[in-house]
Amino acid sequence: MIRFDIVTLFPDFFRGPFDYGVVARALRSGLAEAHTHDLRDFTHDRHRTVDDRPFGGGEGMVLKPQPIVDCVESLGLAPKPIRDTAHETVLLLSAQGKRFTQATARRLATLDRIVLLCGRYEGVDERVSQLLCDDELSIGDYVLSGGELGAAVILDATLRLLPGVLGHADSSRYESFGEADPLLICHPERSEGPASTPGDNVPRSTHASAGILDYPHYTRPADFRGLAVPGPLANGDHLAIRRWRRHAALAKTLANRPDLLAKAALSDDDRAFLTTLGYSPEPEAS
Ligand code: SAH
Repeated sequence: MIRFDIVTLFPDFFRGPFDYGVVARALRSGLAEAHTHDLRDFTHDRHRTVDDRPFGGGEGMVLKPQPIVDCVESLGLAPKPIRDTAHETVLLLSAQGKRFTQATARRLATLDRIVLLCGRYEGVDERVSQLLCDDELSIGDYVLSGGELGAAVILDATLRLLPGVLGHADSSRYESFGEADPLLICHPERSEGPASTPGDNVPRSTHASAGILDYPHYTRPADFRGLAVPGPLANGDHLAIRRWRRHAALAKTLANRPDLLAKAALSDDDRAFLTTLGYSPEPEAS
């Protein structure tokens, strides 16, 4: 069981994100818990003040450290130096943070408790990070007006990785940004694995995408507004399907995220195919 605690000025914000689809199911099933904490409940003045003017001047307001620290201290976490061994973490949402990626989500999914601190205004007094946080995380290179959307993103990406949350045990392993599976890269014909459950002999998503994007998906009708489903997908030749999907995933990655190719685990066939698309790897930095 994994427990999320989200510290926010707007607890109601999470009604939407918690209430639909996979996340709602994970929370209902008892595989995960999510609690929101209203920062204003940890203020001690009549106006329930959570912000103040910045030292040094400048625009906007800054979230005061005291309500956030009091709130986190009320959660009964392990002290910062031993939090790691307690499988707990406190994270600050920040545009200045380390980039949140699928690899971060995989790491978080192994923990027992995750506390997410949502900033607002110009941000959070830096001492909150110094005193409480194990990391600052950014969900991308843009500035949001608050950390709540980021917290919802992190919760969603993490919960769907918990065993038992998604329908098929492997459906998160073989999608975009999936982990490398060297066996499958060297021997794509083995990607079907043991046919232990019905449907297991169907080629899986991207066959261990190993750092590239997922392949394009199609459903019925076979012909839609003059666009036909690619030939190999419409007949039952699994090897041809697998090959088409790998190539389509590579083409999509080259078109949309060429930066991923440099780090992806590519086979000789992958490289040969990419070369036909005009891809030439950057020379190694010396
Ligand atoms: N002055 C800050 C932006 C503050 S935005 C700066 O220029 O870096 C207010 C709050 O929104 C932040 O405290 C943070 O919690 C959240 N936020 C903004 N952009 C974010 C991002 N890319 N990822 C995660 N949180 C973000």
